[in-house]
Amino acid sequence: RTVYVNGRYVPESEASVSVFDRGFLFADGIYEVTAVLKGRLVDFEGHAARLHRSLNELNMHLSLNDNALRDIHRQLIDKNALQEGLVYLQVTRGAADRDFAYPEAQTPATVVAFTQQKAIIDSPLAERGLKVISLPDMRWGRRDIKTVQLLYPSMAKMEAKKRGADDAWLVESGLVTEGSSSNAWIVDHDNTLITRELSRSLLHGITRRTVMQLAKAHDMKVEERGFTIKEAQNAREAFMTSATSLVYPVVSIDQRPVGEGQPGEITRALRRLYIEASLEAMDA
Ligand code: PLP
Repeated sequence: RTVYVNGRYVPESEASVSVFDRGFLFADGIYEVTAVLKGRLVDFEGHAARLHRSLNELNMHLSLNDNALRDIHRQLIDKNALQEGLVYLQVTRGAADRDFAYPEAQTPATVVAFTQQKAIIDSPLAERGLKVISLPDMRWGRRDIKTVQLLYPSMAKMEAKKRGADDAWLVESGLVTEGSSSNAWIVDHDNTLITRELSRSLLHGITRRTVMQLAKAHDMKVEERGFTIKEAQNAREAFMTSATSLVYPVVSIDQRPVGEGQPGEITRALRRLYIEASLEAMDA
């Protein structure tokens, strides 16, 4: 693979960052993952806007504007002949002597980007649906910032796998916040879509926003509020959204089947609508 590091495109074997990088020492960095379908970026604007929000919230400075960022993404897609998968972009506060206090503002950020192939449209998980378990949400209080501090979600995923499931939904004060790397949704018996309202407790998913717009455009009702694991288990359908899974059905929660225990009709329809809309709105 050809990867991007601080202004240069290099073979992955030649790419390096400093051992003093604050991303490495303090998880002092943020990232974005943008899906690629048919060699084109899906909703790059949304991901770029969230990147800037994360940078602002952490007082990090990046000297690249959106056109430059888009160009990096496109060049990586071209150089790696990527048809379907993702572009990962990471920005950290750069390298400096180890100190909890931030280094001087002129310390250049470290910018790294690479591609990864992934079958997104024809994903077996979309057909089979996911089994999830619930776990307490033990992450920090600013989950709206997309930081590289991902140890708890990794632990949650491992715990899910250990228990024969695919993923975990995280619960705080009795209500589901989100999945370990996705937003969580249910469909009630009136076919209303329910997903938690935005706050600092969860990531403001780009896919969540698009799915919500599509649902409303197709006259589906959407309610933004928290729900319990019990309500989710008793729902008609459950699903999750993220940039590279798009819309994945959830067929069981803590070993209890949701609905028929099969991917639901509305979930399938939303996945289809999302794919159609993404291919239509394709970045030129
Ligand atoms: N929630 C968390 C914790 C995530 O890591 C992600 C990203 O994968 C999402 C939600 C979904 O966000 P998006 O749709 O922007 O990929």
